[in-house]
Amino acid sequence: MNATLRIGKVWGIPIGLHWSLGPIYALLTLSLATVFCPGSYPELPAVVHWLLAALTGALFFGSILLHELGHARIAQRNGLPVEEITLLIFGGVARVGERASSPGVEFRVAAAGPLVSLALASVFAGVWWLDRGVAYLAAPSEWLFRTNLMLLLFNLIPGYPLDGGRMLRALVWRVSGDERSATRVARLTGQTAAFGLMAWGLVTVLGGDVAEGLWLVVIGWFLQDVTLAETAGDSLDAALRGITVERVMVEGYPRVHGRLYLRQFVEERALPSGARCFVVADADDLPPRGLVSLSDVARVPRERWDWVTAADVMTPWARVRTVDRTGELRGALRAMVEARVQQLPVTDGGTIVGFLPRERVLSFVRLRSEMAG
Ligand SMILES: [Zn+2]
Repeated sequence: MNATLRIGKVWGIPIGLHWSLGPIYALLTLSLATVFCPGSYPELPAVVHWLLAALTGALFFGSILLHELGHARIAQRNGLPVEEITLLIFGGVARVGERASSPGVEFRVAAAGPLVSLALASVFAGVWWLDRGVAYLAAPSEWLFRTNLMLLLFNLIPGYPLDGGRMLRALVWRVSGDERSATRVARLTGQTAAFGLMAWGLVTVLGGDVAEGLWLVVIGWFLQDVTLAETAGDSLDAALRGITVERVMVEGYPRVHGRLYLRQFVEERALPSGARCFVVADADDLPPRGLVSLSDVARVPRERWDWVTAADVMTPWARVRTVDRTGELRGALRAMVEARVQQLPVTDGGTIVGFLPRERVLSFVRLRSEMAG
């Protein structure tokens, strides 16, 4: 996610604010300052309404952040890397780098967020009970109590990928022992919840409450989009689960000398072999110096190919991402997507033994799903 402002790190996890948060925070503050606060305290001056509104809005987004941190903490405790937490228009997203390896872990990670929201709703309810006689304080704590409760209930809708849907998916996985049928159920519930929200939104619009209805339609639309994307990722992930790199890799690799000029490299090595990526090493028994691919060469103007060498354009070996031959295929695929490369060198105890091309992983997945279907 690019249009994101990094504000700091918690437990090593970068926290980002997506740009869409800005207008939403402004709208929320505006409605709190001009409708909610004046309704509760008509006697207070406008500047106090605005201060209360800004503070309440900030506490609301703090609540969402704490909800996501709940997911993130439990994910980390179970050995799942959390790459970032982003706050955006629809709430927060904690991006977990790996999928849960068991239904128990998936359930605990999914349940952690709603538990935090429940705790927050209770705390604000308690504060409200204590300060209910005090103007300034009572209305914001009541609003935050209600809003956290709504956040809790919305997230418990059993539509994947909402927390309730994730918990349901984990339960189906545990009971059936089959992750794929759990994904199918998740897709179905997610779609049902999404279309349910859209239908409810339309009914609300027809009932005359246009703004609230449209909001529900937008959330439903967003949800059905995310459901499809997430469950497609889960199917791919399940298809690759437990399969090691060595089952799909290509043994052996083409090697070129570092002093090879690019014109020779292209005409004598790349074009005849059809290979896209070469290891740069000055002899067979010397360690690799780097990796040179056709896209590295393409960045050099053609008229310079007679005097620029492979070593000049290669990626130095220290910066090359590799996978071990006993590593998991799905991790390797994710690494390729992240590094935006089409192949990864495969190593065996640190020594390069072959390549893993992305297209081979994908055709492997296609073949397997054809066999299964
Ligand atoms: Zn959540």
